[in-house]
Amino acid sequence: MSTKFAGVKGMNDLRSPQIEIWQRIEGIARSLFARYGYSEIRTPIVEETALFVRSVGEVTEIVGKEMYTFTDKGDRSISMRPEGTAPAARAYIEHSIANTEPLTRWFYMGPMFRYERMKTGRYRQFYQLGAEAYGALDPAQDVEVIALCDAFFKQIGVPDVVLHLNSLGDGSTRPAYLEALKQHFAPVLEVMSAEAKLAYEKNTMRLLDSKEPALQDAIASAPTILDSIDEGSKKHFDDVQRMLTKLGIPFELDRRLVRGLDYYTRTTFEFIYQPKGENALGTAGTVCGGGRYDRLVHELGGPEKPAVGFAMGLDRLVLLVEKLKPVERGGPTLFIGTFEGPERDDAIALVMRLRNEGFDVDFDPRGGNKLGKQKERASKVNAAWFAGYGGDEHKSGKLKIDNMRLPKDAPREQVEISLDGLRAWLNAASKRPS
Ligand code: ATP
Ligand code: MG
Repeated sequence: MSTKFAGVKGMNDLRSPQIEIWQRIEGIARSLFARYGYSEIRTPIVEETALFVRSVGEVTEIVGKEMYTFTDKGDRSISMRPEGTAPAARAYIEHSIANTEPLTRWFYMGPMFRYERMKTGRYRQFYQLGAEAYGALDPAQDVEVIALCDAFFKQIGVPDVVLHLNSLGDGSTRPAYLEALKQHFAPVLEVMSAEAKLAYEKNTMRLLDSKEPALQDAIASAPTILDSIDEGSKKHFDDVQRMLTKLGIPFELDRRLVRGLDYYTRTTFEFIYQPKGENALGTAGTVCGGGRYDRLVHELGGPEKPAVGFAMGLDRLVLLVEKLKPVERGGPTLFIGTFEGPERDDAIALVMRLRNEGFDVDFDPRGGNKLGKQKERASKVNAAWFAGYGGDEHKSGKLKIDNMRLPKDAPREQVEISLDGLRAWLNAASKRPS
């Protein structure tokens, strides 16, 4: 009986030291999104399969081949959520949110599941941070969600993400555009993979996003949707660009940015990591994708409500933060060494009491170790100060505290602090830069 288990392929255990980056990023997200007026929504990990088929679309990579779908004991087809927009829209409709508030701004954070081929920054369980704003047709709403992304990247310390921008129009000119696209791609039909052929038939715009080498020339010379969108959408897109410029958020127009799904209307955008030098993420450089989807809520059975949103890939952002801005190693302010004997209980009680009062204090719970060994442990966990607590200290009510973060060869720095004055000293010590 010695089977060794491994985690499911493509699904990671997140732990120290990366977990500190996750927590920092998540903390920044919570406070920043709140300041922008977004409240959190948490939906279940699973939904009815039909929700994703209807919203994301049958001919997309996600629904076509990436979903974790199973039949539950009640014979329902259930899928692990591959993305967050459809569940949020489902909740928005199910709880009749539109009846009670004209404007709704939500954010979500959590795991998504897609059966994908893995590489750096591409996993089968991955994490998205996303936002959805329902109720505003105005370009200011597009700009707000984009500005939110921009602020987030700056706060977590990831520069060099470039905003790519496109507009797909309101749909009224789409049939004519799709017809023109079909004609354009017809001559290369025979060199297309089966997958590309299916896209050609059912979701022609998706071809613009294809990575197939045989299609690259045709893609480069394809008619651009920006030239054929309706007047209202043109004005909307001009307004978006004007306001972004006003906010000092640079962007690149990217006519290939179609984002595949049928329900996207008007603005679509992506943030792509494009450093001057080496690219840590290779092709997994897209850290955020979003856009406007004014028809989705209605198509899922809800009221006519315009909406705009985005989703960021947190795994990719953590990789970037780890490379660009490694976390500084924290550690307890004080490590208390203990001795075998009747005072050990007092020392441990002191540690717990100080912790409960809010101080970062550690000790070695294994017992039986010499003070020198405990000091090694203190240094391993990067404690700032170290003090032994035994019979002498108990009697005198005083601790001799050693500085553990001195440069090599520096003279020893030891302070003597009475147990009565320990809190005040700890307060000062925890603020002192190390
Ligand atoms: P890609 O072109 O990289 O496959 P996508 O268009 O499938 O991206 P979206 O559905 O728009 O991605 O998801 C938004 C963001 O979520 C992506 O920009 C990316 O940062 C992240 N993401 C998507 N799939 C994965 C994955 N399998 N692993 C890690 N992050 C992912
Ligand atoms: Mg994908």
